[in-house]
Amino acid sequence: MSRLVFLGPPGVGKGTQAAGLAQDLGIPHISTGAILRDALERETPTGLEAKKFMDAGELVPDSVVLQLVRDRLAEEDARSGWLLDGYPRNLQQGEALQSLLQEIGDSLDHVIYFECAESELVRRLSGRRTCKTCGSTFHIEFAPVPEQGQCDAGGECEIYQRSDDVEEAILNRLEVYHRETGPLVDHYRSKDQLVVLDGAAPIDEVGVALRSALN
Ligand code: ADP
Ligand code: ADP
Repeated sequence: MSRLVFLGPPGVGKGTQAAGLAQDLGIPHISTGAILRDALERETPTGLEAKKFMDAGELVPDSVVLQLVRDRLAEEDARSGWLLDGYPRNLQQGEALQSLLQEIGDSLDHVIYFECAESELVRRLSGRRTCKTCGSTFHIEFAPVPEQGQCDAGGECEIYQRSDDVEEAILNRLEVYHRETGPLVDHYRSKDQLVVLDGAAPIDEVGVALRSALN
């Protein structure tokens, strides 16, 4: 059974790696960003509340995200493990996750941290394209959309550029990452809980390093 957290700056490739690994392990890939975007698309009260934070590249309030994670981990498919991508993202969320896991009798197996230089992150984020239907991500240079637009949800992918994948929001997200997530990375590092991977390597190489680190 695997209970994993993926940590790292926006654009480092967490979502890309999480999709393949979760499928290989037969566990759900739980991306708080994806859950929030879906809530926004459906105009639920949570989605509407989150919108202004997401558009600006700020963190959505901890209490809102905790409730989403609590609900998602309670679902049937999460009983055999899970991969949390993008949660926790600050020290408070790290503590909240710890308490939640204690409460439901779960524990964290690995925290995987992907490292990458900032100039590369900006390139990745500004060239990222996302499928509205299945959530898969592509890149105008590094991960081209398949010719036939094969969509994980069946049919054709509907490709768009996320409204926060534009320069102003990207720079703010990187700043928020250093301010909010940096201390959480330090926390896991000081407890010797961090598996550090080179996120700057090509997609396939990161995938190989990830699997060998987990074995
Ligand atoms: P995150 O979930 O960490 O924000 P993504 O997985 O969405 O990051 O990746 C950001 C962008 O970079 C996407 O366009 C993706 O196709 C591309 N990408 C991901 N990993 C790599 C890599 N190792 N090398 C080059 N581009 C990558
Ligand atoms: P990225 O590709 O930057 O890692 P995500 O898809 O993980 O982006 O997140 C997109 C946005 O959703 C964030 O900028 C933030 O507004 C919100 N969000 C996602 N996860 C969290 C979280 N754990 N706490 C607060 N806000 C979050």
